[in-house]
Amino acid sequence: MLWIVRRRPRRRKKTLDAATAALVEELRRQAKAYLPGRLAELATLHGFQYNTLRIKHNSSNWGSCSSKGNINLNLNLMRVPQELQDYVMLHELCHLKYLNHSPQFHALLESVCPGHREKQRRLKEFKLI
Ligand SMILES: [Zn+2]
Repeated sequence: MLWIVRRRPRRRKKTLDAATAALVEELRRQAKAYLPGRLAELATLHGFQYNTLRIKHNSSNWGSCSSKGNINLNLNLMRVPQELQDYVMLHELCHLKYLNHSPQFHALLESVCPGHREKQRRLKEFKLI
């Protein structure tokens, strides 16, 4: 029975050991120094206008975009190759035009980020810490 296997409570994700906490703070520092400029650059290059950017630490997504044009990027992006960072940023920028994953959204994303589906697959090899 599944419930027997799961009897032991899982360790809470919010409780980071000291080494992980230090790594997260270093990634946050790097993310704040790099991501705002790169997002602005990609937005200008492809004609997107967003509202605000926030750097987040969570274990559920690499980035998000709200209907108000506010973009969140995960500080874990500093652990992946630049072309995958750009893929995530372009993905969120395309949500400024389509707040869904419709064929139109994917066509737009492919036009600004060729080979985006392969990049999406590669990103899945990285775990969020
Ligand atoms: Zn999306």
